[in-house]
Amino acid sequence: VLFNKYQELKGNIRVMCRVRPILDPAEGEGAKIAFPDHKTSSQIDVTGPEEKNSLGAVTRRVLPFEFDRVFDPSVTNEEVFGEISQLVQSALDGYNVCIFCYGQTGSGKTYTMSSPDGMIPRATHMIYDTITKLREKSWSYTMEGSFVEVYNEELHDLLTPPGPGKQPRLEIRHDDQRKQTTIVNCKTVALDSPDKVEQMLRQAQNNRSVAATKANERSSRSHSVFMLRITGENSATHERCEGTLNLVDLAGSERLKHSQAEGDRMRETQNINKSLACLGDVIEALGRGSGHVPYRNSKLTHLLQYSLGGNSKTLMFVMVSPLEAHLKETITSLRFATKVH
Ligand code: ADP
Ligand code: MG
Repeated sequence: VLFNKYQELKGNIRVMCRVRPILDPAEGEGAKIAFPDHKTSSQIDVTGPEEKNSLGAVTRRVLPFEFDRVFDPSVTNEEVFGEISQLVQSALDGYNVCIFCYGQTGSGKTYTMSSPDGMIPRATHMIYDTITKLREKSWSYTMEGSFVEVYNEELHDLLTPPGPGKQPRLEIRHDDQRKQTTIVNCKTVALDSPDKVEQMLRQAQNNRSVAATKANERSSRSHSVFMLRITGENSATHERCEGTLNLVDLAGSERLKHSQAEGDRMRETQNINKSLACLGDVIEALGRGSGHVPYRNSKLTHLLQYSLGGNSKTLMFVMVSPLEAHLKETITSLRFATKVH
């Protein structure tokens, strides 16, 4: 509903904010976060850190942020999906759709995107249901999925187990005529049943764990991109349509202090900072209708070039932690999201 309602008004970029619940009292004190307009749920007010005002008194300012939608901690994955299902459907109508989860580590990106009840399984299940119904109208669809990781500005295939030998290099190939992207040497699986999706998610998870001893750490320092290509053909009218759905779990946005990072870790940190900043620049340029969009400045935006801009739809979830200890990162994340909004 949201996407159709604001279509002409606001173009094809949306930003939604989700605050996760406090999982355990041992996590610490909650930050002061208010959701003032429950009816439309588009505002979030965060009480900022202590600062001195002009009279020298210590105060805390309330910082208001506005997005297309704000989800308070009580909102479930099912309800979040309800808000984005129209967007997911539009991939069946031939649109290229990108959905990103942005936020610091521990803010709920993976829970929202790839948990068994998250957006990836929900989106694919809904697409299967729709495809089944469309069969009666002579449409037949095929779905193909790939799952890659962008780590240190390099692509890795999450559907191929990391073997002892050298892996073939993955390369991005753009077909500028058809405005399509393929990744050379990347495994593509036919996703002809919901079971296949679950199997694929498990496989990606396993391969990620094998590749890194500290799996969680690695996953928070790389972007994972699930790419679903949907092709439909109508046997009666011979109409064809092709759409793509990209679901992206971004690297943790937290800033490592430079003094803590050395060598490889420093390079890693710089690459994460650079690619997240670049993603922000690209979305901002698209929102402004700028002629020059700097896709080439990072691997992720280069990969997604034809799914960002043009005839595509983009949604950014900014995920935030409810904890006082994470207040600074929360504000940094909300500012980033405001910039692309
Ligand atoms: P990230 O991927 O951003 O690092 P996770 O998705 O792993 O964060 O979330 C951190 C922890 O919080 C996990 O244990 C996850 O299950 C839990 N969590 C996140 N969001 C929610 C939520 N909305 N409801 C319940 N638990 C959540
Ligand atoms: Mg994660």
